[in-house]
Amino acid sequence: MVTRRSLVAGMAGLPIVMSFLGQNFAHAEEAPLSDMIATSEGDLVIHPIDHASLALEWDDKVLYVDPVGGAERYAALPAPTAILITHGHGDHFDLPTLDAIAGAAPLLTNQDVYDKLPAALQARAIALANGETGEIDGVPVAAIAAHNTTEERLRYHPRGVGNGYVLSLGDRKVYIAGDTEPTPDMLALRDIAVAFLPMNLPYTMTPEQAVEAINIFKPGIVYPYHYGDSDLSALETGLAAGIELRRRNWYPNATS
Ligand SMILES: [Zn+2]
Repeated sequence: MVTRRSLVAGMAGLPIVMSFLGQNFAHAEEAPLSDMIATSEGDLVIHPIDHASLALEWDDKVLYVDPVGGAERYAALPAPTAILITHGHGDHFDLPTLDAIAGAAPLLTNQDVYDKLPAALQARAIALANGETGEIDGVPVAAIAAHNTTEERLRYHPRGVGNGYVLSLGDRKVYIAGDTEPTPDMLALRDIAVAFLPMNLPYTMTPEQAVEAINIFKPGIVYPYHYGDSDLSALETGLAAGIELRRRNWYPNATS
């Protein structure tokens, strides 16, 4: 399903128009800012929600990723047809939000989150380990290792716990990295059309680490997300030719 607002924002393209629309979308009753990307099976509509939370509309599916922050953030979106959760930290996994919005949607999680789900949600959830592949809502998914690699940061995201996900949406692959530094599995990715990458210390990577990784696995479009107050200017100047940077407002609910 594609809303009229999604269409308008997606076709607008120009940064100045996007920021104008973004102001309109700041109203709680409006749909969140969205972008559109063409695939072999219709348009993919991307909704940045907040920090690590996003929603993807494609082929009559509505995929929520790491939904947190309460039902109001999702009030203007269609109900999810599937929910993906990368790991158990509170800015990615929030049971009250899931209870409020999940409806009958199936869930795809890492093992740790799966083990923490109440029985009703667990009954329609599947867990993937790093490196495993599966399917949710008819969408092929690969679980990509998401963890810190810098010694003093390993306590935040140890190896073997969190997932990133590569979703195959028609002929386009979308990579949602979760909380991670550049891992061998990330750097080995190829043919990624759209990548969502986190960059905040001490939990994930620096923008400079992100630039280095991006220039190795070369996604077509990069969305920095989960960046807090990081200075993202390294991405403005550091990306290899042909890689599109899409900076969006991932903190529309910030109070300060
Ligand atoms: Zn985390």
